[in-house]
Amino acid sequence: MKALILFVFFISMAQVQAFTLNNSATLTFNKNEVKVNIGNASGRPCTNIGVDENELLSIVSDAVDQYWNRAPTSRLKLRAGSVKSVAAAYGTGDICNSGTSCDPNPALAVDSDILIVCNGDPSDHNFSSAGVLAITVPNNISGKDILGSLIMINDKTTNQFKYKSRDEKISIIAHEIGHAFGLGHSPVKDSLMYYATVNMRKFLGADDIDGISYLYPKQQPVTCGSVDLNPDKKNPNTWLGLFIGFVLIALLNQLRYLKLRPRF
Ligand SMILES: [Zn+2]
Repeated sequence: MKALILFVFFISMAQVQAFTLNNSATLTFNKNEVKVNIGNASGRPCTNIGVDENELLSIVSDAVDQYWNRAPTSRLKLRAGSVKSVAAAYGTGDICNSGTSCDPNPALAVDSDILIVCNGDPSDHNFSSAGVLAITVPNNISGKDILGSLIMINDKTTNQFKYKSRDEKISIIAHEIGHAFGLGHSPVKDSLMYYATVNMRKFLGADDIDGISYLYPKQQPVTCGSVDLNPDKKNPNTWLGLFIGFVLIALLNQLRYLKLRPRF
């Protein structure tokens, strides 16, 4: 594959190492619905991260539902896909071929959508320290379209991912999915896409919503805006109240006529 400087993102735990090697291109999926699949590398399943592939898929489902699918001004919908068998290379291979920039390893190109794999990194090239939890690379690009992105979770025996709570794992995966569909890091601390502070990510921040909405704007229908100074006039309860009022007045008048009007 022609050398491209794409994204390589790292997140880690307390002493966060966050690196963004990005060519600043506006790369996006050219469709509105993107699946997030789990790759079960033959002979090299997820063995050290504390969850199996099916639980990882459940975490993905929560990650997209709690975060990205709640951006009201974005057209992108992310779906948890399925657990798929993939080549053994995904569990052992290098995500990048070389260098300070990432030349994506063509052997790990993702055909379509987003693929998450566990990688044991026997060559020690993917995860420079146990604190690096995951790496994400859109590694199948056509023009400015992302065809496929790879999220690689650190599955070395020394990885720190396994010590995270389920909620933290959800936010970590949601963060990586953000990279997979085209976002970089946010400088705003109260953001899912901030490079640090994994623990406090509970919801999308305004900057996250701005980011996904910039990349995947939702087409809003053109409507006429209006302001109604008397909205109650359309409320049927108003008419019902008036009707009951007239009936009561008529009844009281009738009681007065019969000199049976109650005295209070
Ligand atoms: Zn990141």
